[in-house]
Amino acid sequence: MARERLYLFDTTLRDGAQTNGVDFTLADKLAIAGMLDELGIDYVEGGYPGANPTDTELFGQDRKFDTTFTAFGMTRRPGRSTSNDPGLALLLDAKADAICFVAKAWDYHVRVALQTTEEENLASIRDSVKAAKGKGREVLLDCEHFFDGYKANPKYALACAKVAYEEGARWVVLCDTNGGTLPHEIETIVGEVCKVIPGDHVGIHAHNDTEQAVANSFAAVRAGARQIQGTLNGLGERCGNANLVSIIPTLKLKREFSQTFDIGVSDAALKKLAQVSHALDERLNRGSNRHAPYVGESAFATKAGIHASAIMKDPATYEHIAPDTVGNKRKVLVSEQAGRSNVLAELERIGLKVNKDDPRVSRLLEIVKEREAIGYAYEAADASFDLLARRTLGTVPSYFEVTQFDVNVEQRNNAKGERVTVTMAVVKVRVGADNMISAAEGNGPVNALDLALRKDLGKYQKYIDGLKLTDYRVRILNSGTEAVTRVLIESEDEAGERWTTIGVSPNIIDASFQALMDSIVYKLVKSGAPA
Ligand SMILES: [Zn+2]
Repeated sequence: MARERLYLFDTTLRDGAQTNGVDFTLADKLAIAGMLDELGIDYVEGGYPGANPTDTELFGQDRKFDTTFTAFGMTRRPGRSTSNDPGLALLLDAKADAICFVAKAWDYHVRVALQTTEEENLASIRDSVKAAKGKGREVLLDCEHFFDGYKANPKYALACAKVAYEEGARWVVLCDTNGGTLPHEIETIVGEVCKVIPGDHVGIHAHNDTEQAVANSFAAVRAGARQIQGTLNGLGERCGNANLVSIIPTLKLKREFSQTFDIGVSDAALKKLAQVSHALDERLNRGSNRHAPYVGESAFATKAGIHASAIMKDPATYEHIAPDTVGNKRKVLVSEQAGRSNVLAELERIGLKVNKDDPRVSRLLEIVKEREAIGYAYEAADASFDLLARRTLGTVPSYFEVTQFDVNVEQRNNAKGERVTVTMAVVKVRVGADNMISAAEGNGPVNALDLALRKDLGKYQKYIDGLKLTDYRVRILNSGTEAVTRVLIESEDEAGERWTTIGVSPNIIDASFQALMDSIVYKLVKSGAPA
């Protein structure tokens, strides 16, 4: 049986841009639109031409995307004609494949916010859809506050949706603008709408204020809607919008949806999903949510020993999907609760062949437990565990040696009489028979040490050129008699692969140094650098 087409509409660049602290540049918008296009998203809403210089510029240029690039804006203002509304004119002239209008669908908002009559609001919708169709654009209408409006006055809310559909809008999108509607209400109301407007012209736009935006989107689809609007990583104001990064794999991998619907995202594109999700966070300069469904670092991480031993026999025992279908990885956490089975599973995953009765496995487990007792946390530092395992098995070459380092932090007045803090690090490194000294200034001791350490590693330099530190986290642990500092460093290579390393010491510089060293050595091992 032929499957029905379900359409995805991304509004990361418009509604997602409302997120606190998010401010996209033109370059950001173009790069993100490119990722969404490659992913196979049907509609990408780029922004609101005329509302700010970035969006105006974005819609002033031609782009080469397969996706239907969509401009967002308001319907004509009450009491004006479509030819006498400068805002509407900008929207109609935008270089966009489609125009998504937003209009009030709640009689109370029409009266109080728009201060106009119900009839004039309907006329504004009708005229605006007609004007955009006249310009050859595909037209969508976002019905703002649709669900609250429907509860207050179903007849009027439906009239707003219907007038747009009858005038030729391709999609009428029902928005849960306040995000407070629950899945069963969404399903009932969308079902009623689909009796009046065919479901393949109905979309859902859900906000996450009760943490059910994804569930609400699926409730709408069950009731007949055939377009889902959402954002990457659930970006959006307040609690965010429906998260497409959770919606896409559910549609692709869960039978209820995969047997009924086709979406524009291919199996091959699905394998890039984790990468797309992380790339967005990277661009926003913020850490990824480790516990994000499907794509988070912990989404397929198992800790307890009994689960780990079952996972080794058959991953399906504790995994709802195969991690690599969404570009993620299985991870068996090594922790103090761990048994041999966790260690063996992790050794297998990182590709270290070892007999399960090998005494070195017991030795490794002992070392892990000893070190975790003094503050190490290997479950959070995959790369440090990898190195510890390789060292215990005797397979890590000694590439280079840091024979000495010195970090100096000085606070003084500069020539202008301003108080400044200057940090400098000097590192002495021996690579084979060569001794090298590097010095660097940094914005802090760890930064200076990192820069000095990576300045010159002789023949190994080419392997670490693409290495960059993406996150640095410090915790003070009060375990036992003295406080120790735990440092976790997240690194990334030129191919976008990430890993985390750890250092523990009473001294923060020393703890950071351990984590930095692990990160560099891990990169050399991973790159197959010669000893
Ligand atoms: Zn919204």
